[in-house]
Amino acid sequence: MTRVQILGVSKRYPGRGKDAAPVVAVDDVSIDVASGEIHAIIGYSGAGKSTLLRLINGLERTTDGRILVGEDEVSALPEAKLRAVRGGIGMIFQQFNLFFSKRVAKNVEYPLVVAGVPAEERKRRVAELLEFVGLADKAQAYTDQLSGGQKQRVGIARALATNPGLLLADEATSALDPQTSQEVLALLKRVNNELGITIILITHEMEVVRAIADRVTVMEHGRAVEQGDVFEVFSAPATEVTRRFVATALPTEPDPDHLAALRERHRGRLISLTFRDGDVDQPVVFRTIAERGVGVSIVHGGVTDVGGRSFGKLTLELIGDDLKVEHAVAALAQETELEVLA
Ligand code: ADP
Repeated sequence: MTRVQILGVSKRYPGRGKDAAPVVAVDDVSIDVASGEIHAIIGYSGAGKSTLLRLINGLERTTDGRILVGEDEVSALPEAKLRAVRGGIGMIFQQFNLFFSKRVAKNVEYPLVVAGVPAEERKRRVAELLEFVGLADKAQAYTDQLSGGQKQRVGIARALATNPGLLLADEATSALDPQTSQEVLALLKRVNNELGITIILITHEMEVVRAIADRVTVMEHGRAVEQGDVFEVFSAPATEVTRRFVATALPTEPDPDHLAALRERHRGRLISLTFRDGDVDQPVVFRTIAERGVGVSIVHGGVTDVGGRSFGKLTLELIGDDLKVEHAVAALAQETELEVLA
């Protein structure tokens, strides 16, 4: 298990052409990743995620600030010492980065060969790793004949070969279909739970964060614009960029066009309710409406799981005479976060 401390880190690249301003790829970012945590760094293309990952494994040097991986200050170590540190860091990639013409077992064995592990032990370790990722029967298959999900399992087995305390995942599921992505994410969750390995993953997909991360950093233009517990950040986003991510994977209120379409079909009062992690008793909400003699139908939204806690936004149509609806809305406002949709 490895703690990772990113302390006021910036990375600037020289601008292209004479007198061009430098490119600030990472701008004064601080992240404290606890040992055993799954930390997601989410942002759109160009936000600085890959640069940050290259700074963590010491492939590039920080311009300012410090990075500690466990006890090792990667931002200050000479190249010769960095190699040893990288042995404690596993990496997996969007495009898998495997030897596709070699057999599966050879791919997994590779880092052990590099580390000088004796043949007998390599064999035992490869069998154990393939068992762990569910590919024991594919040891002698050629890697290019596997499906995308199986290739990523090989990538994970290889990354785990040298018993790293930290795993860095670079858009590890972005090349996979949704079902396969979920399977690979479930495997990463096991890597974290059963082996206690700290995972830092970079992604542009909200679904990845929702599914497995404990904490999240949202990056935009090189800066960490929001940070914290996944549920806290996504159930109450504070920035526009976070709101955009939330809208891709979590139930939301209807946007103006959708609301106009809903209005065509639903002439009652439309309200939106927010449910946060069991702080609202749903039966009470529906009873409150029924007791006021008001009819209700759900017209949009839902409830889902975020960071292991439930979160929902429901748009309801309240049907009945104006005064009763008014009373129901007032009573509901006592129970939950409520918005009457214009
Ligand atoms: P992300 O991974 O979030 O897509 P990157 O870290 O790749 O973002 O890039 C962040 C910014 O830094 C971009 O504007 C990119 O063009 C710039 N950048 C990244 N690497 C280099 C480099 N080696 N030289 C110059 N600019 C770079």
